[in-house]
Amino acid sequence: MIAIRSNRRAAIAYLLALTFAGALASQVSAVSPAEVLLQGEASQKNTRRPVLDEDRRSRDDRAAMVRTQIASRGVRNEAVLATMGRVPRHEFVPTDQLRAAYEDGPLPIGHGQTISQPYIVAYMTEILRLEPGDRVLEIGTGSGYQAAILAELTKEVVSIEIIKPLAQAAAKRLEGLGYRNVTVLHGDGYFGMESAAPYDAIVVTAAATHVPPPLVAQLKPGGRMAIPVGETAWTQNLLLIEKDKDSKLTTRNLIPVRFVPLTRER
Ligand code: SAH
Repeated sequence: MIAIRSNRRAAIAYLLALTFAGALASQVSAVSPAEVLLQGEASQKNTRRPVLDEDRRSRDDRAAMVRTQIASRGVRNEAVLATMGRVPRHEFVPTDQLRAAYEDGPLPIGHGQTISQPYIVAYMTEILRLEPGDRVLEIGTGSGYQAAILAELTKEVVSIEIIKPLAQAAAKRLEGLGYRNVTVLHGDGYFGMESAAPYDAIVVTAAATHVPPPLVAQLKPGGRMAIPVGETAWTQNLLLIEKDKDSKLTTRNLIPVRFVPLTRER
């Protein structure tokens, strides 16, 4: 297994962008009606403008996504809602999917894989009942989006991806976005990552035919695991498995879901 380190969000660049957007907005609203004829030329000269508009639009799109897709379906955890409203999902989708970045569904990310639907990411995160000090294992890094959400809410995230180019791209993306508490690994997540175990929470974002025993073993007493399980693409259920302080397991079947399959290294 290869470790590709990544890191945590530095908010400074984002704050600067917001401050600058605010300054520009006040300049624009100060323009008198007599100057409207010059608008075409002025906007052509202003090369920064589209970037700022994009930034503001993606914030608005995220707010709408949280309201209409996530909160409206019953996700209540404030920290989860705030994080979903903050993490730039458009940074995790391929360029040709940018326009759909905040839509209500999964999107292709190449190699036959997908970035999950925003609601499913939020729901799976909520049911894990994460605490800021938690250490989390994710199986199926994909785009790195779910890993970023987890990294915002916890102390440390270990994420394993079986398709090497996806693992590499996600690690680079997470690093570029400033996440310092994520480790991306290339390998078969069925076996988890024994050397960093046990974990407070485990989330599997690909559908397994059964719950992998190594993952159960790597869950801390008191830990929670969210995993889609099903024989086919049409009959999967999201399970929440809890290990109590005496290591006794409880499994709850929450909702029907549809994930790409958990594949195995040969
Ligand atoms: N969490 C991802 C969604 C990924 S889709 C995101 O936020 O974008 C599921 C991913 O699981 C795919 O990238 C797939 O390649 C990966 N996967 C499938 N089987 C795996 C396995 N055995 N170990 C690790 N990753 C696996």
